[in-house]
Amino acid sequence: MITPEIAPANFIRNIIENDLATNKWGGRVVTRFPPEPNGYLHIGHAKSICLNFGLAQEFKGSCHLRFDDTNPTKEETEYVESIEADVRWLGFDWGEDLFYASDYFQALYDHAVALIKQGKAYVDDQSAEAIRATRGTLTEPGKDSPWRSRTVEENLDIFTRMAAGEFEDGSRVLRAKIDMAHPNLHMRDPTLFRIRKVSHHRTGGKWCVYPMYDYTHCISDSIEGITHSICTLEFEDNRILYDWFLDELALYHPQQIEFARLNLEYVVVSKRKLLTLVKEGHVGGWDDPRMPTLSGLRRRGFTPESIRLFCERIGVGRKESWIGMDVLEKAVRDDLNPKAPRVMGVLDPLKVVIDNYPEGQVEELEAPYFPDDPPRMGSRKVPFSRELYIEREDFLESPPKKFWRLAPGREVRLRWAYFVTCTGLVKNDQGEVIEVHCAYDPATKGGDSPDGRSPKGTIHWVSAPQSLTAEVRLYDRLFAVPRPDSEERDFRDLLNPDALKIIPHAALEPSLAGARAGERFQFERKGYFFADPQDSAPGKPVFNRIVTLRDSWAKIVEAQKKGR
Ligand code: ATP
Ligand code: MG
Repeated sequence: MITPEIAPANFIRNIIENDLATNKWGGRVVTRFPPEPNGYLHIGHAKSICLNFGLAQEFKGSCHLRFDDTNPTKEETEYVESIEADVRWLGFDWGEDLFYASDYFQALYDHAVALIKQGKAYVDDQSAEAIRATRGTLTEPGKDSPWRSRTVEENLDIFTRMAAGEFEDGSRVLRAKIDMAHPNLHMRDPTLFRIRKVSHHRTGGKWCVYPMYDYTHCISDSIEGITHSICTLEFEDNRILYDWFLDELALYHPQQIEFARLNLEYVVVSKRKLLTLVKEGHVGGWDDPRMPTLSGLRRRGFTPESIRLFCERIGVGRKESWIGMDVLEKAVRDDLNPKAPRVMGVLDPLKVVIDNYPEGQVEELEAPYFPDDPPRMGSRKVPFSRELYIEREDFLESPPKKFWRLAPGREVRLRWAYFVTCTGLVKNDQGEVIEVHCAYDPATKGGDSPDGRSPKGTIHWVSAPQSLTAEVRLYDRLFAVPRPDSEERDFRDLLNPDALKIIPHAALEPSLAGARAGERFQFERKGYFFADPQDSAPGKPVFNRIVTLRDSWAKIVEAQKKGR
């Protein structure tokens, strides 16, 4: 976890501290995370979850999980279940505090009746289009509805009949009676209830009028005794309405506080767009490892700790900003660096024959799982033999300057094994190198030379006869451009065609046959990898690349300089 001294500022933390000092809420801190169950959670939601649950933890309060399920046409139980699983996976617990806005339908109805009785709400028979058309603009006032002056009795009668199912969908709505000339458009007689004769995933056919978001949200917060109702900046203009409803109804009144949403480059964080990608088959599903959903990140191999670290690092402010994908990638590297054992795997194998190594001989060499701290975490044996695989990119027939890996006449260190010198190569008819020949120096066993010489290059390798052949999936950023939302072209045309590359036959060190589904490793010089929890079988892991390593090469060279 992040240490307090590097935790960035969070202005909401300051507000809460201040409220505790002035005893504004009687010492209580109650937040909530209120997702609409109409899709899977994404990395943007993680920011809100970490903020709300994190503050509750920090101040020994509570955070409610509340499903904002007021729109029966788009919501499904599948989404409810995935949201619960994702919040738990992130490491948070709502305890007893699981709520549904649909549990408040009766209360919301009763409060609407109270508003009608106060002359603060009326039934409007205009169509949705007519209501929209008479709302006015930022520079022009709206127009009063012809139904605005209905009597309380008439409003009560029609609203009751609306709820009893007497009228068609869209034929009438209940509106608050505020001010059609209000400078804030949200205050121009907003809709409270509309008719929708559809079954709801929790209340079934009980209701045929459903409450609108703004009206539902503040009353739900009030009923649950929330203290700090934290939402994204888009709702800043709605706050006036939040306050109006609670004041007019004289209800317990939480404080709404807005913060800047997460905008992350190279992905989209909109459930609607992510749903489009899933429905149209651009990705394999909500949990496709390319997706910025929590289920996608989990399937790819991200840890919950890495996502919490990311959320802590980006901080919480009131200014819209964009976060680079490198921040998320750095967080997962920083989290996995001390946790993931180092192993060797060759993704693009090129055969190497050690001509002076005895045919049929196999040596078991000791290789630490954590070279930076070998005694702590143990080691495994890696077999070495006459035929090896190295990474194709680690050999060049005519190397440019500063290429320190294998080349004709060049000596390199094979990690944990021996120094080898390239003595020849074999090409196919197309002129491609298909085999490299080397001579090894038996005096350099373990990767050190008694005469003190040290090749500049160290490369990873796998013994060919014992290697484990495995499928490895290389994942990269979902979109080819940083801000697919703000381009003129349709976001679907901006998907990164290279976001998934499947390597059917990578050559991995044999110890990986024992990798369990869900285990993470660092393949030296290649990145962090995750044994896919669904597609891996005992003895036959399938690996997802979580993230590449930056500076891996530089690090190994540095470690070697220090004598390892
Ligand atoms: P989307 O735009 O993806 O549909 P949403 O805001 O409609 O998201 P909700 O289910 O209403 O989705 O979101 C639940 C909570 O998550 C809300 O409090 C919302 O403010 C917060 N949230 C959603 N997206 C982000 C984001 N990108 N950054 C921070 N918080 C977010
Ligand atoms: Mg929303």
